Amino acid sequence: MKTLNDFNFQDKKALIRVDFNVPLNDNFEVTDATRIVSAKPTIIKILEDGGSCVLMSHLGRPKGVQEEFSLRHIIDKIEDIIGVDVKFASNCVGPEAEEKAVALQSGEILLLENLRFHEEEKQGNKDFAEQLSKLGDIYVNDAFGTAHRAHASTTIVAEFFPENKCFGSLLAKEIESIKKVMEDGEKPVLAILGGAKVSSKITVIENILDKVDHLIIGGGMTFTFVKAQGGRVGDSICEDDKMELALDILKQAEAKGVKIHLPVDVIAADAFSNDANTQVVDVKHIPDGWQGLDAGPKSLEIFDKVVNECKTILWNGPLGVFEMESFAKGTIALGDSIANSTKNGAFSLVGGGDSVAAVKQFGFENKVSYVSTGGGAMLESLEGKTLPGIAAILG
Ligand code: AMP
Repeated sequence: MKTLNDFNFQDKKALIRVDFNVPLNDNFEVTDATRIVSAKPTIIKILEDGGSCVLMSHLGRPKGVQEEFSLRHIIDKIEDIIGVDVKFASNCVGPEAEEKAVALQSGEILLLENLRFHEEEKQGNKDFAEQLSKLGDIYVNDAFGTAHRAHASTTIVAEFFPENKCFGSLLAKEIESIKKVMEDGEKPVLAILGGAKVSSKITVIENILDKVDHLIIGGGMTFTFVKAQGGRVGDSICEDDKMELALDILKQAEAKGVKIHLPVDVIAADAFSNDANTQVVDVKHIPDGWQGLDAGPKSLEIFDKVVNECKTILWNGPLGVFEMESFAKGTIALGDSIANSTKNGAFSLVGGGDSVAAVKQFGFENKVSYVSTGGGAMLESLEGKTLPGIAAILG
């Protein structure tokens, strides 16, 4: 696995695929710069070697050229974070980009306009990738968030750098963290899968059963399992057509010696609302008209014990409807348990969109071992897929 440390970037231009798909407000100001901050170590290493950086990224989902999706809006933010002036090419390919890349001196940064202003980017077009490849001597992929897409800048462009390609430090860290959980995690290994639906996590669950000793299932997924086992789930979210599958998962787990932990009690509400009336009920006896929206106190005690017994922990998906304060307690308590276990030496990886949002919202970011930057890419990795962007560098 080639990383930045395998190259000396002195007098070299690094063509870096970063993920600067950051949120902007109505005034086109960056509201969360995490992704730019995450790319800083890669950029700094190259500049310190005496190289220069050509940065390419997408921003949003433009249809053709749309000024509101211009990467121009984030130039100031990059300059603030990296501490170096940023030059800009108003088209990511073509004469302007090529001239500016040629003129780039050691220690300088050139930012290219939004890759997705060209539909060839998402199509993985080879000619477009070849045009991009002219802009650098070494290709560096540091964008985990798009590593599951075979786009021109994330995958195809690597073909034009058969020797001179590597992972940036962010992407390398992502790969190492996933490997630590999925391949060589210290036992006992625990996965916690929450979120809304079984259907979106089936492949993850099936793949993960071969890797873990314990599996905590929480969130809305709970009720499909509970109903399948004969429980009464009231008005809780439940996928009736996935009940067979839930039973099959429980059977597979037993055969593989994986201990599954489901909530035993829940906070039930009489409406899907923060102001609803609530009561703690047994997970198998939820009255009609009530729905389980968070894990209950007994469940949290059980989960805390498991989390603290395990040495490797993967967390994907909240335990309840954490967006509403009344149903965030379970997710917060689980975060506390994971933070404590991490403090005592466990390795903890948090990944997948909503658990990352929860971890940030409740301040656990620095109390777990690693927070992944890629939602879809993380899920596909957990499903056991080799991501095209990663394969392209390894190949
Ligand atoms: P996912 O994207 O599959 O990880 O799902 C995350 C979403 O699941 C969050 O928006 C939560 O509000 C939601 N969720 C978690 N627990 C429940 C529940 N018991 N009932 C309904 N939605 C839930």
